[in-house]
Amino acid sequence: MLNVPSSPTINASAESLDSSSSVKAIPSPSHNQSIPASNCNVRLFREGETIFTEGSASDSAYIIESGLIEIFVGSGSEAVQLSVLGPGDIFGEMGLIDDYPRSASARAMGPCRCIVISAAQIAERIEASNPLVRLLISISLHRNRAYNTYFKTVMNSAHVVLPTPAVTEKAYVKDPQHRRILEEIKLESDLQKAVSNDELQPYYQPLFSMADNGIVGFESLLRWQCPDRGMVPPQQFIALAEETSLIVPIGDWILERACLDLKTFQAHWQKHQATQNRLFMSVNISVRQFQESNFCDKLLTLVRRYNIDPKSLKLEVTERIFLDQADAIRAIDDCRAAGFEVALDDFGTGYSSLSYLERCEIDNLKIDQSFTQKICTSHRARVLVNSIIDMAKRLGLLTIAEGIETEEHRQILKEMGCDIGQGFLFSRPLSVTGILALLTQSPRLAAMGNTPED
Ligand code: C2E
Ligand code: CA
Ligand code: CA
Repeated sequence: MLNVPSSPTINASAESLDSSSSVKAIPSPSHNQSIPASNCNVRLFREGETIFTEGSASDSAYIIESGLIEIFVGSGSEAVQLSVLGPGDIFGEMGLIDDYPRSASARAMGPCRCIVISAAQIAERIEASNPLVRLLISISLHRNRAYNTYFKTVMNSAHVVLPTPAVTEKAYVKDPQHRRILEEIKLESDLQKAVSNDELQPYYQPLFSMADNGIVGFESLLRWQCPDRGMVPPQQFIALAEETSLIVPIGDWILERACLDLKTFQAHWQKHQATQNRLFMSVNISVRQFQESNFCDKLLTLVRRYNIDPKSLKLEVTERIFLDQADAIRAIDDCRAAGFEVALDDFGTGYSSLSYLERCEIDNLKIDQSFTQKICTSHRARVLVNSIIDMAKRLGLLTIAEGIETEEHRQILKEMGCDIGQGFLFSRPLSVTGILALLTQSPRLAAMGNTPED
């Protein structure tokens, strides 16, 4: 086999490129698509095993976790090795981008462990990228393919001795940004697996009436118990799920669990407290879920299935949904008309225009925990929270304060007229078992103390 340097210097002529058309038209990910069963997101290859061959269709790309892979053109004694790739390298990505058949073959040089990247994972990222970036990718791909063809020609025409490609440590593998991107793709693959492997769990944080410290409802908060990473907090994976289409099936699952568990909590409450108090469930809804045309219908199907009053399901949305005001207002109006309540989460920390509050009716304002936590120490935070509560009351909205950690926070917020409290002072988020235990006791603040997350 002939060897060639791994950093080619030959360029195809740029004039011959029709770069704008060569990046494949990316199909929009369907919001309804089910999560691909990706138990096979890691593949192990034996020494000498062919991973793909020149001319075959491109279906996946790979990130090398361990081992070496050779990329070559031609076959048998006429094969030309183009490069040797090691941990941190990606290969097989070209065909996923431009939908061309493979222009080279790949083979494991020893035992190798690779993470498989699906066409959909690449497509979503390209779809979200700037058109100039797509153009640059096209040019780069075209040059790469021309380079492969050139070496096949050289190989067939003369005995050329080319330098051995060193398995050099590539600078980009050490680049923190490169590592971060690879880590993100791995996290995404693991998250897909998490859904099919039942690694996600709903936790519930109780919410309390500020007037009498009695429990009034819950907020569902997602947890991921990952076998390799331990308990992964939602901040580490929700944003990633939102960037991809994963948030839709995950969100659907959370909604279904929240309805099922609310029904259980309500029945348990009624049995142990002998009251008809209607507990509610708040569920965090991502912009992407809200943008689905059938979102409200999905909710209605769920409440009918679990025999829940729509009024007891609160949809927590952030101000970000108002970036597209007309659509957001329509979706909120539809959900409210169907009987669901809408709460504005993290109020005052996001999109700063208040015009949507004039144009759109909602039910609750959630005061962000960053305000609550400064309420004792910052005069300005106190003024802001007082004003938010005052404004909410005048608009006929219920106020919920998040992040209440001390008795002092609670006292001040109560005096300001806040309606509902949520925070570690009352309870941390709990599993279903934890909530059932809480509802069995007298679920009032004085009786509880600061329970650890179970
Ligand atoms: P969030 O909606 O603002 O949820 C409240 C967060 O504050 C939760 O963090 C909760 O555990 C935490 N928290 C509650 N009381 C206190 C307190 O007294 N002190 C402090 N320091 N923190 C408190 P968590 O569970 O880590 O969730 C973080 C964020 O992840 C949530 O913020 C929400 O934006 C997102 N998230 C969680 N579950 C879901 C979900 O099912 N769907 C979507 N779309 N987002 C979710
Ligand atoms: Ca929330
Ligand atoms: Ca919040």
